[in-house]
Amino acid sequence: MSALANNYKRKNLSFARGKGSFLFTSDGKKYLDFVQGIAVNSFGHANQHLVKAINNQSKKLWHTSNAFIIPEGEKLAKRLVKRTFADSVIFQNSGAEATETSIKVARRYFYSIGKKHKNTILCIKNSFHGRTLAAIHASGSKKMTEGFGPKIPGFSHFKFGDHEKLKKLITKNTAAIMIETVMGEGGIKTIPIWCLKEIRKLCTKKGILLILDEVQCGIGRSGKFFAFEYANVKPDIVPIAKGIGGGFPLGAVLMTKKIAKAMIPGTHGSTFGGNPLAMSVGNAVLDQINNKLLNNVRKTSKYFISELNILKNKYPKLIKEVRGMGLLIGLQLFTDQTYFINKLMDNKLLTIKAAENVIRILPPLNVKKNEINLALKIIDKVCKNLNK
Ligand SMILES: *Cc1c(COP(=O)(O)O)cnc(C)c1O
Repeated sequence: MSALANNYKRKNLSFARGKGSFLFTSDGKKYLDFVQGIAVNSFGHANQHLVKAINNQSKKLWHTSNAFIIPEGEKLAKRLVKRTFADSVIFQNSGAEATETSIKVARRYFYSIGKKHKNTILCIKNSFHGRTLAAIHASGSKKMTEGFGPKIPGFSHFKFGDHEKLKKLITKNTAAIMIETVMGEGGIKTIPIWCLKEIRKLCTKKGILLILDEVQCGIGRSGKFFAFEYANVKPDIVPIAKGIGGGFPLGAVLMTKKIAKAMIPGTHGSTFGGNPLAMSVGNAVLDQINNKLLNNVRKTSKYFISELNILKNKYPKLIKEVRGMGLLIGLQLFTDQTYFINKLMDNKLLTIKAAENVIRILPPLNVKKNEINLALKIIDKVCKNLNK
């Protein structure tokens, strides 16, 4: 009997070590890991540059309070600002903290300009913004909020693609629209480029903020630094986490100058957020997110998706759709995907579920072509056996 609470349905499988795209059990079994901690380990397991960064920093300084200047954090924030739409950064430790801080920042901005009534956040129904109380109510998912009442006010929901409803929901009390650029847990559903552009225009016209949750699709995962760059739009606030830590817990909120002005001393804080250890790892992740890597993500993605589409055509009764962008890929089946995922696992390929019968496939960003080919071979084999 485990002493851990039973809030996860875990597979009966554990690992002793990892190297790049692979995980190894204590008895030496080798698995191709296309989960990577759910889009967290941007460069796979035991990436040398990250190992070095954390080793070096761990010998110098782990943690100091945000009451003092943390040079590694100053550096990481400057680099994030230099690379993106943002002028200012607040560091956190996780995705949910980053999305929740984004909500706080949006509301505080309107408060600071004398419009405290503007505090409602519009979100997509059954989206995913994390598991804290506000974040589950932002997600508007019955499954996630059930039993965790009372309902937290200040959120309204529209269905994915329901533009009329979205427009109708905007009132004088609306502060922001908060959406994932690519819905990860929701089944790898991408907000179309034209739609992002329209939403940006709508926000500007109505004087509300656009929060793009890039916790899962950000930091190179989409093939661009941020997925919204494909649409050439500029958000106001962007929460990030997962990939920026490369496996170390790290989250952040990126924002424009106008909004950052509202975050005066005392408005927000975090004991651990922005600690030297996390900041050193974040810097070492950014060192490796260069144009060469992003080109490779796009190239690998194109190949992988086209090969998956060949499998879709080969097994039209099993695979309904190949979805996603970059190395955030979804294989939508016609039926429940759990059995399929377990079969892939039996064949030493690790993938993970998302909503709408989707199998999520998340290789590290530096995945090699022969590893993609190995995954394709395993998927083909499992399809063939199921197709009998
Ligand atoms: C994973 C995720 C979160 C929550 O991140 P945690 O680190 O688990 O709190 C929030 N938003 C999106 C889009 C995510 O994928």
